[in-house]
Amino acid sequence: MKTVFVVGAGPAGLFAAQKIAQAGHQTIIFNRDIKPGGLAEYGIYPTKDKMKFGLRKQFAKVLSLPNLHYFGYVPISKESPLTVDDLRSWGPSAIVFAVGAQGTKKLGLRGEKAAGVYPAKDFVYNYNMLPLYTGQDFSVGRRVAVIGMGNVMVDIVHWLLIDDPLKTTEEIIVIARRGPFEAKFDAKEFNYVEEHFDRKAFEEELQRIQPQLASVGQDISKLADETFPVLKKPAAEGNGGKFRFRFLCQPKEIHADASGRISRLTVTENLLSERDGNIACKATEQTADIEVDTMIFAIGDVADPAVGLPYNRDSYVTNPNIGEDPKSPPAYEIFDPATGKVLDGLYAVGWARKASDGLVGIARHDGEVGAAHVLKYLENVSDGNSLSAEQIRQQIAAKGIRVIDKADIECLGRVEERLAKEGGRTWFKFDKDEDMLKAIESEKAKAVTV
Ligand SMILES: Cc1cc2nc3c(=O)[nH]c(=O)nc-3n(C[C@H](O)[C@H](O)[C@H](O)COP(=O)(O)OP(=O)(O)OC[C@H]3O[C@@H](n4cnc5c(N)ncnc54)[C@H](O)[C@@H]3O)c2cc1C
Repeated sequence: MKTVFVVGAGPAGLFAAQKIAQAGHQTIIFNRDIKPGGLAEYGIYPTKDKMKFGLRKQFAKVLSLPNLHYFGYVPISKESPLTVDDLRSWGPSAIVFAVGAQGTKKLGLRGEKAAGVYPAKDFVYNYNMLPLYTGQDFSVGRRVAVIGMGNVMVDIVHWLLIDDPLKTTEEIIVIARRGPFEAKFDAKEFNYVEEHFDRKAFEEELQRIQPQLASVGQDISKLADETFPVLKKPAAEGNGGKFRFRFLCQPKEIHADASGRISRLTVTENLLSERDGNIACKATEQTADIEVDTMIFAIGDVADPAVGLPYNRDSYVTNPNIGEDPKSPPAYEIFDPATGKVLDGLYAVGWARKASDGLVGIARHDGEVGAAHVLKYLENVSDGNSLSAEQIRQQIAAKGIRVIDKADIECLGRVEERLAKEGGRTWFKFDKDEDMLKAIESEKAKAVTV
């Protein structure tokens, strides 16, 4: 039996840990958040209850494995009391990094620091009640620009126009570099917001960009069959705010008002071009101004360089020697470009390996394939001399960190379930770490007195 550490308890980390534990190895998970689940808990849209309940059940099953230990509320990074080197010094045979994509892609725009400008990930973490983000200002005004046209954009429209209790937003302008045929959202997701889709504005926008679409051979009449199936349905205009699309443009500069909040967004107009069947865009000298008081950019995320792994532009570096040939297996081993060697026994899986890549099923698959690589590696290494789970717990506690374990997670789950029932709701979630810790302690105390 060998010991493997898994850093991160999102879908990729949990399913990787499951495979490794089921192969008989002692598996220890370290997770930044108190709760496991990652974006499945704090990213997936809040009202997708069924999906969230189903995933929580699967995660609980993973955590129930007797040779799998959970140390929550324990971030590993250069900026934390515990670093990657600390983990390595405890002697595991391998470490799997499944920390997701916690970094923010910089837009590099003038004025980017204005108030009211948010990365989508942070905004989503806030409305999904991830404690790190719940205390911060994510105020929204009346006119919001959302940059990007994938599923995350649809989630944000959904939140702002349907579920945001403050409902301040009257109009959302979705800013897209390319045209409507390059939209990336799923029709199923779009159904949630179609009542708020401003059809009239869409038709006008299509007329405006029609010559550009025609120049690359795109035919507007095919849009309903390709990326906008909503156009096959009769227009269903609901009450409340509306959203519309502004195609063929990209943010250039953010202008702030006297209070420092975004008041105007200058965009560069783009031209479409086609090469080998791929549609690309090219910026022109022409610009346009759009008045907005909030801007959310949903353009995907990057890995967090602060974790302390070899980092290249936007991701951790994995072995280029394996990944080069499309027919060869993808690279999971972490690679140090400074020495030109893989870091023995260090692996990345899920969004930590390929940022913002796909749904939970893809992250799960990636975790499991990565785990298979780890298991193969373990066949050829001698048993390490890892500290035991209990010794590691003591080492962490010695740094003044309160470690959350599996029993704590069960307690928290019970309290949240009870509070949901008492409030007549399908779910209840604490939005502060202190409240979760208090709930765990009082639930434990209750169990002792009973
Ligand atoms: C807004 C949004 C909505 C989505 N909606 C859906 C949906 O409806 N359906 C669907 O199937 N998929 C959805 N997805 C995709 C899905 O959430 C991801 O595919 C999946 O969660 C990625 O899994 P992961 O384990 O790689 O990363 P994550 O889920 O991000 O998990 C990373 C884990 O690592 C931990 N961590 C981070 N940093 C550290 C550190 N330094 N030390 C220790 N631990 C750390 C975090 O606490 C977290 O538990 C959505 C994604 C987003 C962004």
